[in-house]
Amino acid sequence: MFNKVFFEISGICNAKCKYCQTGRANIERLAGQKSPEIRQQQFVDLDEFKKSIEYMLANNFINSNTTIDLYSWGEPFLHPKFKEIICYLSGLNLKFGLSTNASKPIYFENSNDLKYLTYITFSMSGFSQESYDKIHGFNFNKIKENIISIIENFRQCGFTGSAIISYHIYQFNLTEIQAAMEFAKKYDIKFKGYCAYFNGKNMFEKYLRNELEYSELKCAATELLLGSIEKRLTEFNKMDKNNYNCPQFNILTIDEHCNVLICCGYSDAFPNAVYKKIYNVNKVDEINVWRKNSKECKECINIGLAYAGNNVVLYEDVLYESEFNKKLAIIEGRDVFLWGTGNDADKCLKLWQKIKISAFVDSNKDKQGCKFNGYDVISPKELFEKKFGSYFVIIASTKYEKEIADELERNGLVREKDFI
Ligand code: SF4
Ligand code: SF4
Repeated sequence: MFNKVFFEISGICNAKCKYCQTGRANIERLAGQKSPEIRQQQFVDLDEFKKSIEYMLANNFINSNTTIDLYSWGEPFLHPKFKEIICYLSGLNLKFGLSTNASKPIYFENSNDLKYLTYITFSMSGFSQESYDKIHGFNFNKIKENIISIIENFRQCGFTGSAIISYHIYQFNLTEIQAAMEFAKKYDIKFKGYCAYFNGKNMFEKYLRNELEYSELKCAATELLLGSIEKRLTEFNKMDKNNYNCPQFNILTIDEHCNVLICCGYSDAFPNAVYKKIYNVNKVDEINVWRKNSKECKECINIGLAYAGNNVVLYEDVLYESEFNKKLAIIEGRDVFLWGTGNDADKCLKLWQKIKISAFVDSNKDKQGCKFNGYDVISPKELFEKKFGSYFVIIASTKYEKEIADELERNGLVREKDFI
């Protein structure tokens, strides 16, 4: 059973992002060049899509807890039957997610059409026309208008999930982050910044093997924050490679030909990364047996691509790093508690690995008294019984950040002084 499936409904994208394999293929195609990344791109056939979904449901590959992300290397809104695909999944009560460059909006009519859309991500390459000229190649004002109108229409049509701006951080758009965050806040969109990197195996592998062309490396050195990749490689080099479990093994990726791919880092431009049509796979376990034994996965893990590619450095990480020393001064001499034991807590633990954590806090009674990553989990009551001022709290949950902060403040703690 997979809780998350990437199902590429459009292998085609209209953008020209030079660090993405689809964008690069677009640039090279326009220039009349032939590159290994130009592949058989197309839209998924609706009947074959339905057949694949029905097969996966019937054979317990997925169920109503699964989220089907309708993208990987293309722009889903370009699919001529985009609405039919959405309505089909909604009719089956299946949750789905979208990621778009917001260049070609599609609007819905009925109040329940998007009830099962759990999130929509708008990928942005900056917050100015200059930045858009460097990467996506779209009219920036039009993109902003489209994001606003998509959000408005989607919310009217039953969408109650998260709208997210995925802001790709480059050297040239660092000063635009604040404006992008304000835009996001104004329209009730979450902001997530990621250090842009080599999006796709080909270029990423060449970089890791020191095989990038000098001109490509020079371009990357002046545009990407390559230090973010090096940071991950340093972490990875301290780990036991043989025991590394790639998070993609919990995710299923299917391309627009309905073929199972090794993961979303690859496309059918790499024949060894293609397994078979999803509806020809007998058992769910077969997929992981194939990928775990594949030469691709072994090499990918060995050179650090799997770790660096699955742990992209976030804007929060960059901020935390720069703020870290300031925070240390406030924390010094106090017991530190991390509040939250979900996915964010894992990330938070990694970020704060340099300091000694006393315990985790969670309001969920089922988790209290248990261990999280080897630490005790205590209740809020136990926390507040400690001597006031002797402890410092780090909120480790984005979902419940407000509720936790309110509770801390009700108990007299002050943001930035007693908690962050
Ligand atoms: S990064 Fe996204 S928007 Fe850019 S070319 Fe690739 S798929 Fe298209
Ligand atoms: S090890 Fe690499 S190729 Fe294999 S699933 Fe993970 S990211 Fe993909």
